[in-house]
Amino acid sequence: MVILADKRYFKFSRRFQVVVPTVFIFSCSSALFFWSVNNTQEALQSEFDRKAKRYSQNIAERLELSKSKVQSYQAFFQGSNYISYNEFEQFSKALLGKVNTLHGVGWTEITPHRERKNTVNALREQGYPDFEFTAPSQDGMVKLGIKDVYYPVLYVYPYEQNRRALGLDLSELPGRLDILNSIEQTGKGRVTPPITLVQENENERSFIIYLPVWKKYTNNEELRGFISGVYRASGILGSVLNDAQKHNIGILISDISSKSGAEVLIERAVSAHSFIEANQFTIDFHGSQYQIVISPSAEYVSNVNDWVSWVILICGFFISALVQAFILMMSGAIEHTNEMVKRKTKQLTLAIEKAQSASQAKSMFLANMNHELRTPLNAIIGLVTLCLKTDLSNKQASYLQDAKLATHTLMSLINQSLDYAKIESGKLELEKIEFDLSDVIKKIYAVFQMQAKQKGIDFKLIIDTHINRMLMGDPLRVEQVLLNLCSNALKFTDVGSVSINVTAKTISHQHEEVIIRIKDSGIGISKEQQATLFQSFQQADNTTTRKYGGTGLGLAISKQLVELMGGHIVINSEIGKGCEFVITLRLQKTQQSTTFTSQTIEQGYLADESADETDNRIEIASASESKQKMSLHGVRVLLVEDIEINRMIATELLESYGAKVTQACDGQQAVHTLKSDNDFDVVLMDIQVPVMDGLQATKVIRAVPQLAKIPILAMTANAMNEDIDNCHAAGMNGHIAKPIHMVSSILASLPGPQAQS
Ligand code: ADP
Repeated sequence: MVILADKRYFKFSRRFQVVVPTVFIFSCSSALFFWSVNNTQEALQSEFDRKAKRYSQNIAERLELSKSKVQSYQAFFQGSNYISYNEFEQFSKALLGKVNTLHGVGWTEITPHRERKNTVNALREQGYPDFEFTAPSQDGMVKLGIKDVYYPVLYVYPYEQNRRALGLDLSELPGRLDILNSIEQTGKGRVTPPITLVQENENERSFIIYLPVWKKYTNNEELRGFISGVYRASGILGSVLNDAQKHNIGILISDISSKSGAEVLIERAVSAHSFIEANQFTIDFHGSQYQIVISPSAEYVSNVNDWVSWVILICGFFISALVQAFILMMSGAIEHTNEMVKRKTKQLTLAIEKAQSASQAKSMFLANMNHELRTPLNAIIGLVTLCLKTDLSNKQASYLQDAKLATHTLMSLINQSLDYAKIESGKLELEKIEFDLSDVIKKIYAVFQMQAKQKGIDFKLIIDTHINRMLMGDPLRVEQVLLNLCSNALKFTDVGSVSINVTAKTISHQHEEVIIRIKDSGIGISKEQQATLFQSFQQADNTTTRKYGGTGLGLAISKQLVELMGGHIVINSEIGKGCEFVITLRLQKTQQSTTFTSQTIEQGYLADESADETDNRIEIASASESKQKMSLHGVRVLLVEDIEINRMIATELLESYGAKVTQACDGQQAVHTLKSDNDFDVVLMDIQVPVMDGLQATKVIRAVPQLAKIPILAMTANAMNEDIDNCHAAGMNGHIAKPIHMVSSILASLPGPQAQS
């Protein structure tokens, strides 16, 4: 059924799994069955062979024994020249008693014709008045005619059952003279072929043994006569035959010496062909060859019980059926499970795809929202900054300062959420550039040193002097992580100290492991709170937001950034006993090996006078710019910007530094302006402008030979690495991320003495 089952329901592999073991087990048990049957048959055969041999031996012995009585007669007659009928009778009575194996004994004397009369008379005188030499004929026994020599039976015993034989000339019986002659020639006794006695039925076969008796008085022995013993085969072999019959064994004895073919002597329960083979023996019995065939009867074969073999076969059948059922069940279950797994995997893949596209859509939305939020926020920051430059009352100035602080917080939140979205969607790409670690630390120290002073907290920086400062990585992101951790440390510490401890370990000749510990003596974080601290939007407890503000994104982003850099971040803290954040960064070394110069750097060493503002990088930068008294006096700037308010702020800002600004609303206008007036010092190009975008416009400008060298700076709100690469590819010299950086960027791009100022 399994083999013929429909391919749709039964795959080839399953069919194979089910059929092979089943066939194998069934073949094994069949082989075992045949082996066992064979074994049993061999055992039965050898047992039968043993029995057959025993029977054949018994038969041979019985036949041999039967002769002994006749031999006694031979000796009796041999011992005397004359024995009367009476003496013969007396001897027979004594010898045979009631023995019934011997059907009859006779004495035959070779009588020449001249003695016929005397012999007949002698017998008549001894009590047999009707005695005559006779021969068999169709009408019964008749008087024998004249012959040279007669072979008359003179005495018989017992008389009653053998009376017809008395006087019978043996040579008148067919084939009998040959036997008598051969006895004379060989001197040995002979047996007749099987005969049926006159008074018996066809099935009862007999034979006669003739033994010679010699004349005593002659030197050269002359034959005197014969002793004949008539035996019924069943009489001699009766007990053997009965025993064999009881044991269901058939016996066939035939005389195979006669030329006319085998003559059956005994035939009992001879069976047809069976798996137990018949045994055949041949014995010589007084010149006749007797073939004895001993075979198992039908009953003998049917009585043989080979349970073991059948038990093996049936068990084998059941085991293979069980195995098959088991495999069918198992393979069915496995197939079902596989189907389920396949279906579920498909569903999961679909769900993942769906989730991914949803997440992508979310990230895209967030990125777009960020861009949209940042543009007006930048405008607000710009306007507030401009406003602060005008004459204001103290109250107005204080309000505006607060507004400026609030906008910076908002900007930082927008930046963080964008970072988080980028990390989540796997879009954050880290830079791998050569940077000086001491620059990063210097900046951090500068940012927080002042803040610590204001709070009355000790702020320490401890650096291992063996550290290799020059490393490969993303300095901005390292700075971002440190800013976040230090800002937290200062935020949550009111008394005591905050320290930054920098050590390093060389892990291979290419890599260095930088370990930065930021430790504070602030409020600390409980163990339970630590467990979820690095998840997004998690704060130690809800009161934190109320008291200290914050978004709960900083640590999540820091952890992700550190891990992106191949490092890790751990926290050691106890509530009320402060916190220690340990960042381990794996960074590649550079060719240069410059180390820090002082082992312990305390306040003042790296302090930048400009770092007096908030915990924000923007603040540092803007503060630095404002204090550097930069000047763009006489510099001609072409400002390409489509949004009017941005145009206005940028123009105001640039003009406040002494620059001369010409405005263009799109790329095409910019190209026109430049073609008609090529005396500009620098072009500030917004990328996303209508009609002709910034990149396209740059390519057109660069194609004009006189304008090939003019510095062009891109203005992008949130530049991805890819955007910056595109800017450079289009032929731009650099990019400005925020309008606040405009002045320093312009100065950096200008050739000659202005750049240095
Ligand atoms: P934010 O500070 O913006 O709320 P963070 O992810 O940086 O978000 O920090 C999450 C929370 O972890 C904080 O709200 C605060 O409860 C706790 N935390 C972080 N740093 C410290 C620190 N140094 N001492 C005590 N608590 C801290």
